Amino acid sequence: MSQPSAYPSAVPVGVDISRASIARVYDAALNGKDNFAIDREVLDQVRTVAPGVAELAWANRDFLIRACRFLAHEAGIEQYLDLGSGLPTSENTHQVVQRIRPNSRVVYVDNDPMVLTHARVLLEENTRTSIVEADIFRPLTVLGHPAVRTELDFHRPMALFQVGTLHHYLADDAAALMATYIDALPSGSYVAIAHFFDPEVDEYSDLARKMEDKFVHSPMGGGRFRTRAEIQAMFDGLEMVEPGLVLCDDWWPSGPRLAPLSVVRHCIVGGVGRKP
Ligand code: SAM
Repeated sequence: MSQPSAYPSAVPVGVDISRASIARVYDAALNGKDNFAIDREVLDQVRTVAPGVAELAWANRDFLIRACRFLAHEAGIEQYLDLGSGLPTSENTHQVVQRIRPNSRVVYVDNDPMVLTHARVLLEENTRTSIVEADIFRPLTVLGHPAVRTELDFHRPMALFQVGTLHHYLADDAAALMATYIDALPSGSYVAIAHFFDPEVDEYSDLARKMEDKFVHSPMGGGRFRTRAEIQAMFDGLEMVEPGLVLCDDWWPSGPRLAPLSVVRHCIVGGVGRKP
């Protein structure tokens, strides 16, 4: 058993509106409707040091969508294990990849009751997509889950996502956690990670640390801004797809940039690695 104290989401908040939920805070940042005052309060607290905090969510989400397109289109992947699916209503992993490869199978994993309910409704008529209730920070539980084993073929390459999730795992062994997942993947599989980032340069590091402090003391209880070395270690044993681990906005942007990135956007990175 892992220690529940290592990360607040080990004990799901339920639909308790007196406790903030990661999924609902993310939804609020993306201008969704599935959130409560306590969730918006988290963002308001972080906004006192970073008015553009919601851009972390947008950069993360846009990275996920572009990574999905790459994996379906270029890498030809047809199986996806999306850990921490979240609440967004459009351009979810299955919608993006099944548009390109209609036979793709997608298994979402989450432990937030609102996400689970939402997903079950959304997926009612999609026989190739399912949602599993489990703690994504317990790799052996997820990997051994009957639905995961039935829906996905562990002898064929797949993509595993930890997009916008691992910064909610507050303990120091996040790389070991990922190593367990990576170990279970067949050769030719891909791993995509997006993570809050401390760039370790004065210009942006100060903001990253201030946001972290606000998240830790907010009703959400945490959000770690890890360094490049700490995040890169989560891809151990994988070959990084170009351009490597970079700011989410720099990972194959959709077009030329017409304005400089905001300071907040320098505090979230993403990358995709391939298992040889
Ligand atoms: N991956 C999506 C994306 O990038 O758009 C959603 C990211 S959202 C910030 C994080 C998601 O991880 C939430 O839906 C939350 O419920 C889920 N999550 C956080 N901790 C979890 C845990 N221990 N077990 C399962 N899900 C968890």
